Amino acid sequence: MELQTFRLPYLAGCRYFQRRSILRRQFCTKRSGFCISCSYSLDKDPLIEKLTDARVIYSVAPAMGHNQEAHPESYLRVPAIVSALEKAELTSKAMNQASEQGIIYIDGSGPTYATATTFQESLVAAGAGLTLVDSVVAASNCSQNPPTGFALIRPPGHHAIPKGPMGFCVFGNVAIAARHAQLVHGLKRVFIIDFDVHHGNGTNDAFYDDPDIYFLSTHHDGSYPGTGKIDEIGHGDGEGTTLNLPLPGGSGDISMRTVFDEVIVPSAQRFKPDIILVSAGYDAHVLDPLGSLQFTTGTYYTLASNIKELAKDLCGGRCVFFLEGGYNLDSLSYSVTDSFRAFLGEKSLASEFDNPAILYEEPSTKVKQAIQRVKHIHSL
Ligand SMILES: [Zn+2]
Repeated sequence: MELQTFRLPYLAGCRYFQRRSILRRQFCTKRSGFCISCSYSLDKDPLIEKLTDARVIYSVAPAMGHNQEAHPESYLRVPAIVSALEKAELTSKAMNQASEQGIIYIDGSGPTYATATTFQESLVAAGAGLTLVDSVVAASNCSQNPPTGFALIRPPGHHAIPKGPMGFCVFGNVAIAARHAQLVHGLKRVFIIDFDVHHGNGTNDAFYDDPDIYFLSTHHDGSYPGTGKIDEIGHGDGEGTTLNLPLPGGSGDISMRTVFDEVIVPSAQRFKPDIILVSAGYDAHVLDPLGSLQFTTGTYYTLASNIKELAKDLCGGRCVFFLEGGYNLDSLSYSVTDSFRAFLGEKSLASEFDNPAILYEEPSTKVKQAIQRVKHIHSL
């Protein structure tokens, strides 16, 4: 899918959408104001320089029924322009195809699909996250205890790679928010925690060589998309600011508590973030049909509560969660609800939902080994 020059109708906080912005390094330069794109990674494209200040916003209303034959003001005028723009790769062709065909599949393995409304709705989703960042940051400027943000959005984002959609994800919502926090709010150091059962490869790739954005992902070892090995730690200036911790199948509440205390906390303390963003996937729940871990609703309550505290300790409470996976509607909704309780400081009601009888023993030796290895690699 290609994203080019578009209007952003609902995107609070965003003013422009610039052709061929770069996710890997930047969404745009400070010179041109704020904008987003996940469309290309064209670091070397000479057009980037020329287009740094270029902005095009357009809409299409061809009035196909306003069509008196042989009239010089023909109904074919706007379609002719759109087709020329398409030919020049200046429109979102995938979405136009979706409009005509009803649905299209963007990649083979996910599969990731698009309908006629996907593009606009994905912009709204990304924008909703940015609005939360704006609000949380604004609140943190006048309160020691600002609210925690939670973007209940879809499509999810953490598999979307700099050059396009992947794995159910269209835009890298968390990645976009991280750059937004830096460019718009001057929050230099962003700490991203991704506890989805799958590796957040898109976020990983976007900031792999960026020392100012720390990406920490826990995921089921060997699950989709197969990336996120323990020795993937970043590159160049960003070496050491990517931490991947693949967990063995069956890891659950005890494992994740240990990971939080022994890996997440010391990593965050050392990095000293200005804001914490969370790729909150609920597909590590034991009841999730796509995952093979054993998180419970209680695990998510603890994570939410601990991450909120961590943000309070390290970065003025600035913390925004973004919904990623989670495909069992019951465990998803209970777990998110219990996360809200954690933010509010209310008691967990996880025991009303969780059934300990369905849990089996966690692979504690393997988990310990993985934790020791990641601590050794990252000198924690
Ligand atoms: Zn997932």
